[in-house]
This record gives sequence, structure tokens and C-alpha cells, in this order.
Amino acid sequence: MDKENIGFNTICTHTGEIQDQQFKGAVSPIYLSTSYAFEDVAVKRYPRYFNTPNQEALCKKIAHLEKGEASLIFGSGMAAISTTLLAFLRHGDHVVLQRTIYGGTMNLVNEEFDKYGIQYSYVDQQNILGFEEKIKKNTKLIYIETPSNPLLTIIDIKAIAALSKKHNILSVIDNTFASPVNQNPLEMGIDIVIHSATKYLGGHSDILAGAVISSQAHIDTVFQLAKNLGGSLSDFTVWMLERSIKTLGLRVKKQNQNAKKIAKWLEKHEDIEKVYYPGLKSHPDYAIAKKQMKGYGGMLSFELNDTIDASAFQKALKLIKSSMSLAGVESTILSPTKTSHSLLSPEERKLQGINDALLRLSVGIEEKNDLIQDIEQAIKIVKSQAVSIES
Ligand SMILES: *Cc1c(COP(=O)(O)O)cnc(C)c1O
Repeated sequence: MDKENIGFNTICTHTGEIQDQQFKGAVSPIYLSTSYAFEDVAVKRYPRYFNTPNQEALCKKIAHLEKGEASLIFGSGMAAISTTLLAFLRHGDHVVLQRTIYGGTMNLVNEEFDKYGIQYSYVDQQNILGFEEKIKKNTKLIYIETPSNPLLTIIDIKAIAALSKKHNILSVIDNTFASPVNQNPLEMGIDIVIHSATKYLGGHSDILAGAVISSQAHIDTVFQLAKNLGGSLSDFTVWMLERSIKTLGLRVKKQNQNAKKIAKWLEKHEDIEKVYYPGLKSHPDYAIAKKQMKGYGGMLSFELNDTIDASAFQKALKLIKSSMSLAGVESTILSPTKTSHSLLSPEERKLQGINDALLRLSVGIEEKNDLIQDIEQAIKIVKSQAVSIES
């Protein structure tokens, strides 16, 4: 069989699996050794060198999913992001970043980069002109995240890749929200793809991990720093992640379908002010999303109209859990103002278009009608409470 041309779900299930030679078990055995006999003097296996049998096997699978030559897996998404950025940036360099990136990434830049003498600029106007404007002589890297959190802004990936090539700059994308199911940025010319594997790759809200995928040469550069920083992933978690990815394609496909149905339903609802979902024609970036995404993802945001209190609504939900994080098989909801974006100043939130009425929904794999019914009953409860307070 041609390994290069196998389909997505086959990669999910089989690429990189370790054959159990001893007992012929169905799944990859797990190797927990931190010490391995030398095969020859040069080959040293050690978990912090990212080369245990399970680590290497999982890296093959993740690289294959993103159509990259190689990958590295980390103890968290932030370990993957920080190691990658610091591997390619040095004192005196400048980096251009989209303003609406993940809060932890923004904190890394704002709180740490001055120490290392790395300069940075955020792009407000999220089109190619906006990015080009910020490029300086010493710009070494452009960093994007699309779809972004929580308003699902879409950046034109091919245009960013072309812009980076034109100026001889490295392009990096946080592809967490799309997952490899919906978007493969390496195929669009991006140099490096990063995932918080805590989200869709893990998918069950029980794994903290990260991944970087690129050419072998770039991964070698990331590895040089990674082995010194030491952010590798334990083999237990590696094994769980390998197992979780087997259902990645199935999970995300269902989440795509559910989210699209719910977004369309919310858009028609009289008590909903606004819906942000890149698969809706009303989304300002719909055309770009349609061009570059295979599915529109499981994340959406909406604003209730001002007669409905957002916190009361969240409390009235029975099936959809109010909790941090996202991308699990179970649906979760949060208020960005109160949680994911609470550390930003009100001014910064306003710059990003986030207000108090906004709720972010991570759509799970439950039956869509049950999710819709849950939202409907919660709206009814909050409305009836409002009426009884008035009377
Ligand atoms: C969660 C998340 C991260 C950080 O990942 P951790 O695994 O929590 O370190 C980075 N980017 C995005 C888009 C995320 O959602």
C-alpha cells in the first residue's frame, strides 16, 4: 500500500503504530524506560531527547496528519509554542504577530521577550496589508492563528505564506482551532504548524500536550533548543494521545456538523444578537474560510440580546457544561470576559471585539438536537425569571 496516499482516518488509526512482536496485541505497547542500551555509541534514547519508541511513533503519526516531514511533541501547547519561537528568534530580532492570538502566547511575548531583547509588533488590521505594514528590516518571523479565539477571525493562510516568502521571513501558525482535519497549512506554504494537542488532538479533556510539525531541517532546529529546555511529553501521555488521535477524524467531522447546525439555528433565533462562525455566510471572513478550510470547525461564539443575562443563561444550561478549555467530546461554554480573556485589560478586550455578552461554545459530539434543546430551555428559564422579577 502507498503510505503517502492513505486517507486521513487510516493515518489516524495506523501511522506510526508499534507492532507488539512479543504478544501480538492489537495496540502499540507502551515503553516507559528512561534508560536504553546503546544500539551503537551514537544512538541514545532518552525521554528528554524526544526519542523513546512511543514518542517517535506518535511524531510519525502527527507529521503525517499535517503532511509534514517531521514533528516533535511537547508537554503542553505552550511548551511547543515557546520552544519554537525561541528556537528561531534571537536578541535583536523582530516578530510580527496577529493581535488575536491565544492569551498564553500573548503573555509569553509580553512578559518574556523583552528579557531576551526580542522585539515584537501586533497586527490589528487583520489583512495582508496590516501584516506587511509591520514588517521591519529585522523581522524574522510572522505568527498567525486562524480561526482565532473567540471571534473565529480567519486569516488568509496562502497570502501570509506568500508575504513571508517575499520578505524571506519564517511563517508559523497555531492550527489548534482548525485541527488537521479542517486545514493543513504546510500545504498552503506555511513553514511551521503548531498544535495545542490538549484540544482536538487529545479531544477528551484529559491530556495536556503540544506538537510542532515542519520540514526535517526546521524540526532539527526546534529540537536543538527543546532538549535544553526539557519540555518533553511523558510516555503515558504519549500513549493516550496516540489512542485519542485514532478517532480524531470521526470526532471533528461530527463537531463540524453540529457546530454548523447550531450556528445556523442561533442565527435565526430572536433572542440572539450575533453569531460568529466561519461557516456562516454572514461571517465577515466566510469567503476566505471557504477557500482554505475543509470544514469550519467545532468552535463558535454568540451574543445573547441585552434582555438575557449571560451568567444566568450559563447557569440554566443542563447538558452544556460551563468550563475552561475546549475541543472535548463534551460541549462546553464560557464567557471570554470572565475566563479566557479576563487577564486582558478592558481596552485590549475592546480592541479584540470582545464584550460581556459574548459566550464561546465548544461544540461536542452529542446529538445536535439535544444541544439545541438545552440552549432553548435555558433561554426560556432566564426569560421567565426576568418576567417574574418585573412583576
Ligand atoms: C490551549 C491553547 C494553547 C495552549 O495550549 P496548552 O496545551 O494549554 O499549553 C495554544 N493555542 C491555542 C489556540 C489554544 O487553544
